[in-house]
Amino acid sequence: MTYDFLIIGGGIAGVSAAAHLAPLGSVCLLEGESALGYHATGRSAAMYLRDYGNDVVRALNYASEEHHRTANGGVLSPRGLLSLARAQDGAAFEADLAGLGMAEISLPEAVEMFPILNMATTTRASYLAEAPDIDTDRMLQNFLKQARGQGAEVICSASVSAIRKAGRWRVQAGETEYSARILVNAAGPWVDGIAQMAGAESLGFQPYRRSMVRIPAPDGHDLRNWPMTQGAGERWYAKPDAGAWMISPGEEDPMPPHDAWADDMVLAEGIARYQEMVTPEVTRLETSWAGLRTFAPDHSLVVGFDRVVADFFWVGGQGGYGFQTAPAVAQLVGELIGGGGTSLDATVINALSPARF
Ligand SMILES: Cc1cc2nc3c(=O)[nH]c(=O)nc-3n(C[C@H](O)[C@H](O)[C@H](O)COP(=O)(O)OP(=O)(O)OC[C@H]3O[C@@H](n4cnc5c(N)ncnc54)[C@H](O)[C@@H]3O)c2cc1C
Repeated sequence: MTYDFLIIGGGIAGVSAAAHLAPLGSVCLLEGESALGYHATGRSAAMYLRDYGNDVVRALNYASEEHHRTANGGVLSPRGLLSLARAQDGAAFEADLAGLGMAEISLPEAVEMFPILNMATTTRASYLAEAPDIDTDRMLQNFLKQARGQGAEVICSASVSAIRKAGRWRVQAGETEYSARILVNAAGPWVDGIAQMAGAESLGFQPYRRSMVRIPAPDGHDLRNWPMTQGAGERWYAKPDAGAWMISPGEEDPMPPHDAWADDMVLAEGIARYQEMVTPEVTRLETSWAGLRTFAPDHSLVVGFDRVVADFFWVGGQGGYGFQTAPAVAQLVGELIGGGGTSLDATVINALSPARF
């Protein structure tokens, strides 16, 4: 089977890239799991925080916002971000104010939006109204529809096991060999492994685990309109999740690429940090999970052709920002591969280039 573009990885990175490559030629996307979005893409906190991440990430956030708000009716809905500090969290609290553009509010104001706040331990609070939820499932489906509508083929249960170049790329998945002119590496935590298979140098990506646990609504509150709430500096965070309450320890534990699961001890420690700041006891856990946030060494994404290996294109290092940056990143993938003009600033494009390593 022969294509112009072969994409490895059926998370938000690969699917959104497919939507932007489909107008340029024939596209085939290979996903090893039996469904799309099984790994990080299916396990996120689903937030759009405009000022979250370094300068390069922020540029991508800003460039993606219009798409998030408008494309196919938009995928954002109001949520808000509340940050709570203990007496000893001063530096982290100030960093949230400066970094995320949060505004300090009074504790009574904080209690009004988050009635389970523990006044005995919380000393300061800040709030960011412009912190919407992303409907991540809808976003993935929108890009998928766009890709398929323009003829892209999407094949699940097709785990790539070997890659060689004989004029064109030859990619083995199961019993089938796929051939393409350009190979797009959107394999999330596995990007370096795919590069090595293709004869390219790995770039030093590191996946970090982040766990989540769902608990029943605290004290039976109707929490649909509660903000996402965090301990200053992301010591923990929590947000409403389908009528329940989802808590993350906010950990960043380095891990090899794998199908991640929550570590009980990490969850227990994270819940203890959360527990200190709220009044109801956590008595029952409903379910837990974890995902890998994969970062390049400088925590910027990597988008562009490999420096050495021809026709090998990287879309990696989405870290904790893969959804919020995806519209701008996918557009850039189309622009760089299509060879036309680019809509992002040259300094941003250079800061994303694999050639920077
Ligand atoms: C707990 C948590 C909270 C997060 N919160 C947010 C948030 O609020 N906002 C935000 O924007 N982002 C958030 N993120 C980050 C976001 O989820 C990720 O950046 C994004 O999903 C990464 O997408 P991806 O397509 O690069 O990777 P993945 O979703 O991991 O997809 C990569 C795919 O490649 C496939 N693959 C790998 N190797 C092969 C192979 N050999 N053959 C075929 N297929 C292969 C895998 O099966 C996988 O499906 C969060 C992440 C986590 C874990």
